[in-house]
Amino acid sequence: MNSSALVVKYAEIHLKGLNRPFFERKLVEKIEEALADVRPRVVREQGRIFVYDLPEDHLEEYAQRLQKVFGIHSVSIAACGEKTWEDVRALGIRLMAAYRDEQKTFKVFARRADKRFPMTSEMICRELGGELLQAYPNLKVDVHHPEIPLTVEIRQDKAFLYTGEIPCAGGMPVGTNGKAMLLISGGIDSPVAGYMIAKRGVSLAAIHFYSYPYTSERARDKVVELAQIVSQYAGAFDLYLVPFTEIQTTIYDKCPSSETTVLMRRLMMKIAERTARACGALALITGESIGQVASQTIESLAVTNDAVDMPVFRPLIGFDKEEIIERAKKIGTFETSILPYEDCCTVFVPQHPVTRPQVQKLRESEALVDFEPMIEEAVRNTEVIRISHNVSY
Ligand code: ATP
Ligand code: MG
Repeated sequence: MNSSALVVKYAEIHLKGLNRPFFERKLVEKIEEALADVRPRVVREQGRIFVYDLPEDHLEEYAQRLQKVFGIHSVSIAACGEKTWEDVRALGIRLMAAYRDEQKTFKVFARRADKRFPMTSEMICRELGGELLQAYPNLKVDVHHPEIPLTVEIRQDKAFLYTGEIPCAGGMPVGTNGKAMLLISGGIDSPVAGYMIAKRGVSLAAIHFYSYPYTSERARDKVVELAQIVSQYAGAFDLYLVPFTEIQTTIYDKCPSSETTVLMRRLMMKIAERTARACGALALITGESIGQVASQTIESLAVTNDAVDMPVFRPLIGFDKEEIIERAKKIGTFETSILPYEDCCTVFVPQHPVTRPQVQKLRESEALVDFEPMIEEAVRNTEVIRISHNVSY
């Protein structure tokens, strides 16, 4: 019986040598998660993943869902049938019927993963091309720039035919490269930073610092909403919400006013590092980029790094704001990020922040106060919520 399937091509997994089965299994798991509500049959076979038993009338929609699964290069909606010339021919004719009234060009591409199939790839291209020209006189062959590429794949147990590829997110399956902790604010940058690291196969946890009553419940809801959008790609993760008011007001009262922002950043990093270690995250992620604001000069970044003993990933480090905004729009966080809100960073901005802070000087300023009990208190009162996107496709 003829039916349909999704043909999934991987992104970088082919580079992974001996680890390849691990990456492939993870990808299968992620595809199953993304389509959990329809429980398809997902089969891994020689450099491809095939998804069967999907409701035939919503294939487009299911294919689109896979656009958010990292590790996938492209998805094709394929007609599949028996590995016989009769089926290949019939499926080709059926697929191309959609273009019968158009003056379009096409080309047949054939791949024979099963070399026992009696026709070579070249023969398939030639024979099927000929049949199609005969069946649809409006169509023409263009071997260099065909408008409709018709691919025929002869696999181990079936033949698959499709006329296009839906480009997907690329990257590597989440869960194949350890875990990192994203410092997420309600701004534009940090959600994009989280997306980019998750795209490299890293699982996320996230941490947000809030300062009631200086920041509102609304600001916190916004962060939760942003985290939910990120989780459409990164999968479910824990968001740690840390009360930061006491630390922040203490910095404000007791430390040099020009240094308050950098000191605040150092304390955020310290708490983030502690929380990361406790949950098995091996690195921190921030949305910083060089020179964007006073706290992101090279000197400020060095002072921030000095507060922790853990790698800090800053995937946006060389990006212009425009480029970050473009990505935020593409992944769907921008509209939420620009809703008005107060971040604890913006509430306590000093009038004349230092732009070239020195590590030694900042260590001294920090030592003016014993922050340790406050850090412990903040960690103790941290609330954890599980973030997952609602499957409301
Ligand atoms: P964003 O758009 O991500 O808010 P930003 O350009 O506003 O970034 P800053 O406010 O200086 O920059 O913050 C730099 C980074 O510090 C953020 O990208 C984020 O990773 C982290 N950060 C800032 N505020 C918070 C917060 N309240 N909770 C957790 N992380 C924060
Ligand atoms: Mg911010």
